[in-house]
Amino acid sequence: MPKLLGCLLMAFCAWSQALELRGELTQGTLLRGQVLPNSKVWLNDKVVKVSPEGQFVIGFGRDAALEHQLVVQSGNHKTQHPIKLKAREYPIQKVDGVEQKYVSPPDSVLKRIEEDNRQIAKARAKDTELMGFWQDFSWPAKGKISGVYGSQRIFNGVPKRPHYGLDVAGPVGTPVYAPADGVVSLFVADMYYSGGTLILDHGFGVSSTFIHLSKGHVKAGQKVKQGQLIAEIGATGRVTGPHLDWRINWFDERLDPALLVPANP
Ligand SMILES: [Zn+2]
Repeated sequence: MPKLLGCLLMAFCAWSQALELRGELTQGTLLRGQVLPNSKVWLNDKVVKVSPEGQFVIGFGRDAALEHQLVVQSGNHKTQHPIKLKAREYPIQKVDGVEQKYVSPPDSVLKRIEEDNRQIAKARAKDTELMGFWQDFSWPAKGKISGVYGSQRIFNGVPKRPHYGLDVAGPVGTPVYAPADGVVSLFVADMYYSGGTLILDHGFGVSSTFIHLSKGHVKAGQKVKQGQLIAEIGATGRVTGPHLDWRINWFDERLDPALLVPANP
């Protein structure tokens, strides 16, 4: 960070320069920040974990408020950094006059769904010191984008739950690679809704979730490197066809994976 170094050496350094943010200022974003070592950071009055080298990460969900306050304390100096996010428009599909054929799951599987959700929430709540989140993320699979983050369907005027994944279409067996370094925090072959489900912990609350997998090549607790084969695309769980559904979380904030990778090749 040459700018930070320069800042340290300058006598009349503006303290506002002691913060660098990487990422798009928009809803659904993951922002990675660099402050001087031994600084403290708060987001809207909540403490944010900072690495010994001054790195931290924050995330804003699909419908996040547009204005936030980041406070950085370096030594005795406390500075306020307002964060202004751009509002996004998500693809909304209105479908009227459709037969109400959505059935709620049978009682017999409710326990199983609850257990699935509990395991997923537990994996996403992990707050480790891993630094994979700091890397430039790469695409976990090659294929056509068949679904985007934030999209929503409205059936007969009733809005359905938005889609939080980035869908990559591909035949069953298409390799899935780790988009960044991490540790496998969960692999379950047959969750009710999400089928083969793998969660990779990238550290500091950032995780990748991959669902509808046909096969996993790694086990819970295993360390993986960016680009390593971790799974295969499938059509397991509630799906209409084979695809990879990739999600990014910062704890329970659901973020847009597309903002972390270069444009689809
Ligand atoms: Zn999906």
